[in-house]
Amino acid sequence: MDYRAEREDVAYFMRRLYDKNLTTCSGGNVSLKLGKDKICITPSGLDKGRIQPEQIGIITLEGKNLTPELKPSIETSMHIAVHNTRPDIQAVVHAHPVTASSFTASEIKINTSLIAESAVILGTPVFSQYAKQGSTELAKIVSAATAQGNIVIMANHGVLTVGETLLKAFDRIEVLEASAKITLYTQLLGPKRALSDSQLTELVAPPKKDEKTERQLIDFIVKEVVDKITKLNS
Ligand SMILES: [Zn+2]
Repeated sequence: MDYRAEREDVAYFMRRLYDKNLTTCSGGNVSLKLGKDKICITPSGLDKGRIQPEQIGIITLEGKNLTPELKPSIETSMHIAVHNTRPDIQAVVHAHPVTASSFTASEIKINTSLIAESAVILGTPVFSQYAKQGSTELAKIVSAATAQGNIVIMANHGVLTVGETLLKAFDRIEVLEASAKITLYTQLLGPKRALSDSQLTELVAPPKKDEKTERQLIDFIVKEVVDKITKLNS
């Protein structure tokens, strides 16, 4: 089987989306770039919780199905359009996680500034207008939105993320769903306290030159302790 490792990865992340309740057995799709001009993508109409690598189709970025025995996802044109818009990324994940998707049908936005993890991993998601699922219009609208950011909230539909790796795109969907839950729970709890502008700036700012990494900090502490013990023993 061609591209065995890549198709195994795509199948694995599709099953993981299902196992983590981030999609239904029929919804959601995952694609991964193969070289410069092809992608592999999950199929249409099969149980997403049991997807196997040999069911993952291979399509060129011009839309030619190189695995005609397999029926690719109905959102294949959306994935192709996103890969063509974002040649810097390798993976695209689309799903309909319940909480995040609820916000796609609401005037209230997912608040990614409530906790540090979502502020760093998600930033501000991009909103895309509604278009019918599987349509060329949807492919156009969503791919245009990915030119603005890595996370797209698709009106009355679901969410889509991109990443340099499948893990990064998956992580963004998982953190987005968690962030949607946190937005909802804090709404229920009452008065809330989001991160301030300066706290948000500090989170996304590159580390200062004199700021030690965790590893450097551990090495520094170990050296201090060893020096003290050596002194005590001398
Ligand atoms: Zn969808």
